[in-house]
Amino acid sequence: MPSFFRSLPERIRNSRAQRRGAEDFSHEVYDAMAGCLACKSCAGQCPIKVNVPEFRSRFLELYHGRYLRPARDYLIGSLEFTIPYLARFPALYNGLMNAAWVKKLLANQVGMVDSPLISRFDFHAVTRRWNVRAATAEALLGLSAEARERSVIIVQDAFTRYFETSLLANFIELAARLGYQVFLAPFSANGKPLHVQGFLGAFNKAAVRNASQLQALSSFGVRLVGLDPAMTLVYRQEYQKVPGIGLAPKVELPQEWLLDALPEGVPAAEAGRFRLLAHCTEKTNAPASSKQWETLFARAGLKLSTQATGCCGMSGTYGHEARNQETSRTIFDQSWARQVSAPAEEQGEALATGYSCRSQTKRYTDKTLRHPLEVLLQLKRG
Ligand code: SF4
Repeated sequence: MPSFFRSLPERIRNSRAQRRGAEDFSHEVYDAMAGCLACKSCAGQCPIKVNVPEFRSRFLELYHGRYLRPARDYLIGSLEFTIPYLARFPALYNGLMNAAWVKKLLANQVGMVDSPLISRFDFHAVTRRWNVRAATAEALLGLSAEARERSVIIVQDAFTRYFETSLLANFIELAARLGYQVFLAPFSANGKPLHVQGFLGAFNKAAVRNASQLQALSSFGVRLVGLDPAMTLVYRQEYQKVPGIGLAPKVELPQEWLLDALPEGVPAAEAGRFRLLAHCTEKTNAPASSKQWETLFARAGLKLSTQATGCCGMSGTYGHEARNQETSRTIFDQSWARQVSAPAEEQGEALATGYSCRSQTKRYTDKTLRHPLEVLLQLKRG
């Protein structure tokens, strides 16, 4: 594929011709692909493994090799690379994002709405309190076999690290209260937003770099765990197909790790029933995942039942695109709105595993959903 700059004049010419009405069947395919949320439910459930998000990404890469991309694509694709720098100035960033003129500019010129704000939570106070260590070769090399068994490496993702930091802090606290030494893998772009937008060349590079870091860490025999399901499942799906990665790093979901880490018979200090609104990608691509949460809750003497929900309509950044606003809301109303508004006292508190789902709920209702691990943490706190 020609380089970005070499192909620029041709893409400008083609896009001008498109505006003048030049025909190309690809535009119809593009419009059809725009309706896909890239939630990967089809990829997980289809008996003949038709993976729409994968061929959508390949199509977008080819299409934008011929036509200019909207600014929105660059903003979304680069998010994981820019956010660590932007997070150094949260007051400035949040102030700008909250300004009416910036919101208007983003909605009308860039096509983005309701961009999340950077969390002001004091993450470093939590890492100090729970003696969290950086996952480096030197630190891991010095561990005895027994210490490795009682250690865990948390693999950060951009969403829970920068936009929902208190949840990541709660995960750290839970692991520490369970008697584990927590190590934090250095933040590195996972590449999912690039993949969704069809920047496949850039995705492959990010994936190779990230995978080699994580493979090096996993060679010390300490388990790797990621918090957000959509970001974590990329390691066992998209990474498997990237040339040059070899064996993709094994990064577990929290509940997979907790099955070994959470002892049987933790007494229930908080009685009650809970309802699990699982992330649709997780539910369809890691089918055992919801049952695993149910098992963990049962161990703690709590009743958790998985609810029949579809996608919440956010699906990563789909719901933040201005062109998808209406559809995103309609999808939320189809199954999530009813579940979220059901009274907790009668039907049990609703819990959500996905960052997208929690932020979608926050923007369309007055409810804040907890992650299931926060209930388990509450029990451990006593
Ligand atoms: S919206 Fe979800 S289920 Fe439908 S095609 Fe796209 S990825 Fe597949």
